[in-house]
Amino acid sequence: MRTLIRGALLVTRDQYTIIDNGVLVIDGTHISHVGPTERMPAGPFDRTIDARRMIAIPGMINAHCHSAANLVRGLFASRPLEIWRAYYRASLRDMRDEDFYASALLGGLEMLKSGTTTVMDHFFGSQRCRFMGAGAAIQAMRDLGLRHVIALTLADKKYEETIPLEGTAPDLAPEIQRMSQSETRETRAWLDECEAFIDEFHAPGKLTTCCPGPSAVQRCTDELLTGAAEIARKKNLPMHIHLAETKAQQMMGERLYGTSLLSHLESLAVLESNLSLAHGIWIDQEDVEKIAAAGATLVHNPASNLRLGSGLAPVPQVLSAGGHVALGTDGAASNDGQNMFDALRLSALIHNPVRTDFRQWVTPSQALAMATGEGARAFGLPCGVLVPGQLADLVLLRRDTAAFTPLNDVVNQLVYCENGASVDTVIVNGEIVVEGGRSTRINDEEVLELARRSRERLNPSIEREMAAAQSMEPALADMYFRVFGR
Ligand SMILES: [Zn+2]
Repeated sequence: MRTLIRGALLVTRDQYTIIDNGVLVIDGTHISHVGPTERMPAGPFDRTIDARRMIAIPGMINAHCHSAANLVRGLFASRPLEIWRAYYRASLRDMRDEDFYASALLGGLEMLKSGTTTVMDHFFGSQRCRFMGAGAAIQAMRDLGLRHVIALTLADKKYEETIPLEGTAPDLAPEIQRMSQSETRETRAWLDECEAFIDEFHAPGKLTTCCPGPSAVQRCTDELLTGAAEIARKKNLPMHIHLAETKAQQMMGERLYGTSLLSHLESLAVLESNLSLAHGIWIDQEDVEKIAAAGATLVHNPASNLRLGSGLAPVPQVLSAGGHVALGTDGAASNDGQNMFDALRLSALIHNPVRTDFRQWVTPSQALAMATGEGARAFGLPCGVLVPGQLADLVLLRRDTAAFTPLNDVVNQLVYCENGASVDTVIVNGEIVVEGGRSTRINDEEVLELARRSRERLNPSIEREMAAAQSMEPALADMYFRVFGR
């Protein structure tokens, strides 16, 4: 299949080049030509898209989310992560494969329709399902035609060893034990499971990249962290992990290792260019420089960090140090939406008030690179820029919308004005998967109905489990105030 896209305003993201009235040719799954209309490549073409009223951008890469969270969007009150997490984990306990499928389908459809073509799903589901239900999430994303990198979440430390819960009321012991059981497994069992998962599902031709995703430094033994890194190295895959999302986590790092969480990763030789670090809020300048020097990628999740009050990641500092930053939504339990335009806009706004030196403010070009090419680089995928040889993952946005009228500066308007409503056509792997704003693969209304049915079936368990989680809130709140002061 050979496709000609003619007349678009091309935002190539290659050396920041913008081509007005450009042509782009897709041969099979890859881009084969990008240039001005005057230098039209020779035909024939199987399909021509008239894009004279369109803007073409590389598909966005959502570099951190949790697909299992879409059924609980908007459910939780804003709470610090340690409290919020007790509720979120409780809501997952009775989910089955069909629910993980419905949840991934719901979030995946929202992402595709708002211009995301690849997602990093740091998957955590239920230990009662095979691979925690990750196979069902993969099926959903394949059905949608959404490219996905799926990192299986691994943790082998007991919950109570990972947060500074000293002096907790003894009557909480049963709940704490349930938290531990829901996520912890013996080290070797996790590593074997991770390898089996990759062997079964890793298939880039089917849009699936699988990789290890240790939950967070403080939640894993050194053996698990180095074992996971060894799997990634052996199979030439990326690795993904949460890093220093809260002050309590940073404190635990100092307590467990006598050093920062990031320095500990470095000491284990796990900090390499294939590693992407979600959040990285409570890190110091030395950590920033180590991330940059290693060529690792910090994944910024601005909406989630605001919702849980976690703090502001030092994104301008990482960029100034020459480091790599990608952008994510995080899961819908802590962000509520999966729209990357929301993350894009926030990333270019929220750092301004805390940086006096405006020359270090995140520019729209930097934000757009974070949402596209930097994510691709982090996961070793040849996409995220519109240049020949890259995978044909791109988005066509209508120009006749309020966001782009009048058209003053396309990059500024993509970042500051657009909210996803202008997305018309989405192409992944050379295939049109969204046309006229609707999925070509799946009935949009059926996706919503499937999600509603799952949520309804889960309701009794969610109500019961939320009440159980509530019993932990006073102790977790005590810990929070101990860490932060009142
Ligand atoms: Zn996360």
